[in-house]
Amino acid sequence: MASDSAAKSPARKPLMPVDEAAARILAGAEPVGEDWIAIDEAAGRVLAADLVARRTQPPFDASAMDGYAVRAADVAAGAHLRRTGEAAAGRRFAGEVGPGEAVRIFTGAPVPAGADAVLIQENTRVLGEDAIEATEGVKPGANIRRAGLDFRAGETVLAMGTRLDFRTLSLAAAANHATVPVRRRPKVAVLSTGDELVPPGAEPGPDQIVASNHLGIAALVAANGGSVLPLGIAGDTVADIAGRIAQAVEGDADVIVTLGGASVGDHDLVAAALAREGVALDFWKIAMRPGKPVMFGRLGGTRVLGLPGNPVSSMVCGLVLLAPLVRALAGIAPVAPLVETGILGAPVRQNDVRRDYMRARIATGAGGTPVITPIPVQDSSMISAIAAAGALLIREPHEAAADAGAPCRFIRL
Ligand code: AMP
Ligand code: MG
Repeated sequence: MASDSAAKSPARKPLMPVDEAAARILAGAEPVGEDWIAIDEAAGRVLAADLVARRTQPPFDASAMDGYAVRAADVAAGAHLRRTGEAAAGRRFAGEVGPGEAVRIFTGAPVPAGADAVLIQENTRVLGEDAIEATEGVKPGANIRRAGLDFRAGETVLAMGTRLDFRTLSLAAAANHATVPVRRRPKVAVLSTGDELVPPGAEPGPDQIVASNHLGIAALVAANGGSVLPLGIAGDTVADIAGRIAQAVEGDADVIVTLGGASVGDHDLVAAALAREGVALDFWKIAMRPGKPVMFGRLGGTRVLGLPGNPVSSMVCGLVLLAPLVRALAGIAPVAPLVETGILGAPVRQNDVRRDYMRARIATGAGGTPVITPIPVQDSSMISAIAAAGALLIREPHEAAADAGAPCRFIRL
């Protein structure tokens, strides 16, 4: 695969930097649209508009504890109170709390008129059916949640762009939204290519392997707010690949991702297939390891990203180049993976012209500093290595050799 690359690119143009490639992929990427969906299907989705509370919470002064609604001025250690009724969550006490009176109350119940505090039941003794004794005093306002403590009707409780997770989804529901406006999930068509590939669970022939990249990429797309249009496995023919690209376009894909066939071997036919379908390539080959043969182009409004087939290359390129695009189209910020700083756990050599994303172990050093140690074998075919890695150590083009303990940058996996 690398052997004839010199022959095919005699001019030896400098490779495009990763950041420029990422910027070109992202250029003009806007959220792809909006939908109204039921709140019970909205987990993980992104709000397309500010959400305003449709009611006040709590809607009334509510008890925060189980105990007795009282007038604080009546209550001191040893005071006897007359129990006149009960207020439970969902069932208020209709009357008033008068001097010397107490109403049995439970958490979430409206505080009855006349009462200005809740005496917790731990600070009482039951004297009889309708008499109690306080064992301590209580301050006015104690154990009462005022109406609107949480939020008020008309208040903006969630901003446009918020992703609905377990917390924010609960807030949207509490604010009484049965349906919510969300960003449409960008549709990402995923195509594996290669005569050697069979789907997981099939019986591979003697020279075949199990295709795995498409599943990893699909999971990455979903985790970053996209939906997946599976295009299956194309054989290594221009016609098969081109036919499936056409299918993706018909299926209104926002992004088409091809896996494999991106290099310069005789059976790497993705570029030819894309050309047949009318894709204008913006770039092909970038200064990235793993991931040099990445290609990118557009077909009308559809972005087409060709990733190398080596599984680690697919995954690293997916994380660095595809996930940010999916996030931008889904309206999720920030789009770029977080780059953190730490120190090296082992020496590294001077880097060459490509930015390197080395599979590494991550440990916690003195003062909590992350210690990043590249694993010894960096072969881009090794799925077990990236699965076990905790981080990708980033090495810039031409970055000098560095010793253990030197500062470094990494992406946590
Ligand atoms: P290619 O980019 O097509 O030359 O593929 C490079 C290497 O990755 C080859 O060893 C392929 O067998 C392997 N490969 C390509 N596509 C996949 C895939 N979808 N899943 C697993 N391995 C793949
Ligand atoms: Mg191939």
